[in-house]
Amino acid sequence: MSPNKFSIPTKRKTKIVVTIGPASSSAEVIRKLIGAGMNVARLNFSHGSYAEHEAVLNHVRNEAANLGQHVAVMVDLCGPKVRIGAVKGGEIILKENDNILLSHFDGSTGNHKTLYVEAFDPREVMKVGETALLADGRIELKAEEVTSKGVRCRICAGGIVRSRSGIAVPDSTLNLPCITDKDLSDIAWATEHEADYIALSFVSNVRDVLRLREIVRSRNSSSHIIAKIERASSLDNINEIIEASDAVMVARGDLGLELPFARVPLAQKLIIETANYHGTPVITATQMLQSMVTEVRPTRAEVSDVCTAVKDGTDAVMLSEETAVGKYPVHVVETLDKILVEVEAGFEFEEYKPRLKGADRETVADAICYAACGAANKVGASAILACTQSGHTAQLVAKYRPQQALFGATSEKKVLARMALYWGVYPVLFSIHEEHMTEAEVVSAMITVRDQFGLKPGSRVVVTAGLRAKKSGTTSLMEIREIPR
Ligand code: PEP
Repeated sequence: MSPNKFSIPTKRKTKIVVTIGPASSSAEVIRKLIGAGMNVARLNFSHGSYAEHEAVLNHVRNEAANLGQHVAVMVDLCGPKVRIGAVKGGEIILKENDNILLSHFDGSTGNHKTLYVEAFDPREVMKVGETALLADGRIELKAEEVTSKGVRCRICAGGIVRSRSGIAVPDSTLNLPCITDKDLSDIAWATEHEADYIALSFVSNVRDVLRLREIVRSRNSSSHIIAKIERASSLDNINEIIEASDAVMVARGDLGLELPFARVPLAQKLIIETANYHGTPVITATQMLQSMVTEVRPTRAEVSDVCTAVKDGTDAVMLSEETAVGKYPVHVVETLDKILVEVEAGFEFEEYKPRLKGADRETVADAICYAACGAANKVGASAILACTQSGHTAQLVAKYRPQQALFGATSEKKVLARMALYWGVYPVLFSIHEEHMTEAEVVSAMITVRDQFGLKPGSRVVVTAGLRAKKSGTTSLMEIREIPR
């Protein structure tokens, strides 16, 4: 193994989630995305066939292995998102003040006169004067007449509509189940393919998360669950949803349709703060660098938005259209990486800590991880080495946002990719043969990081481990060691 192959690719702590789509699904682009810093590949199950997702999943795993990197795969379920069907030529332009008919989907292809709505009949849901929003709210329609064929709307704000765009009707209540029949077969696919994460769309309450947990367990899968917060009701239940989930996503696209958009920034802060308190990884998603779908440089406002998410305490930021259908998918990831590194240089580690005051650190594992971060500062350690079987210890150390390099060392191959989402964690494979961590194994883990990441022999490292390391949540040891010479 050459040291270059495994050297730390970047000093960046905030992780990057990349949505794969037509612009980025080839092996070549995926290889470049990993090189540019993709930590998690998001497969959006609102689009694409199983064969297409399978090809992407194989490219991600093969290219990551070739590059010696660990990249997590997220299957993002469509959920009860209401979409329009296909439109002629893949996209059409809707002009302001024109009329358009919203009809119930019957297999027809839409055009600039009629759009076909899946999942509900607009005639049964919309009343005159109500609004429909398309393309993340950029396009606004107002219902003017309910006819036998559908709801005739005036286009108040026009723009480009793509096939299978989402459509929201914020003035009406749609009682659609959180897990649809399509989601059930997508969950079966995700668990068969050992997806590292399954993202559950339109979570309303903790029961939605527990239902997915039950399905995943019944399939003997270790896939972790990300709850997407995009409903107003999920904000009312945010504490218990986060407690029941392995990670959460601030899904700003749909959240900005469900809530007045001016409330989204404060909702983002609330979700991130609550997730930080619980030590649950949180992803900030949608329109982070939207202008780069077509442009080579982001707007200043977008750069500020990324900065705000980092300062708020997000673990990861997500790219959607920018990489799925944009003109410059690799360049967008490189740009985001640059912004994150710059912004993190001004991350106020000391200001962040009071935020966690009172966080539930009554468990031994939490106390050890908290102490590890304090000890690393006190002794000027160059790294923290979290020996972990489930990834939980690395996640707990990350909760306290250490400035030092943080390695999550595990012998569990599945856990390596999962840790790629965790703030600041570099996943490292090493072998433990015994049920108990032995002295030889701790030394071997230190030698692994020394050789793979060029840690200076003799420099200090804080090691955390569990007495019975094979079980999760048993971290009970912290030692200050020197990297072997
Ligand atoms: C969002 O709404 O912001 C989101 C990430 O979900 P999706 O892209 O699946 O609509």
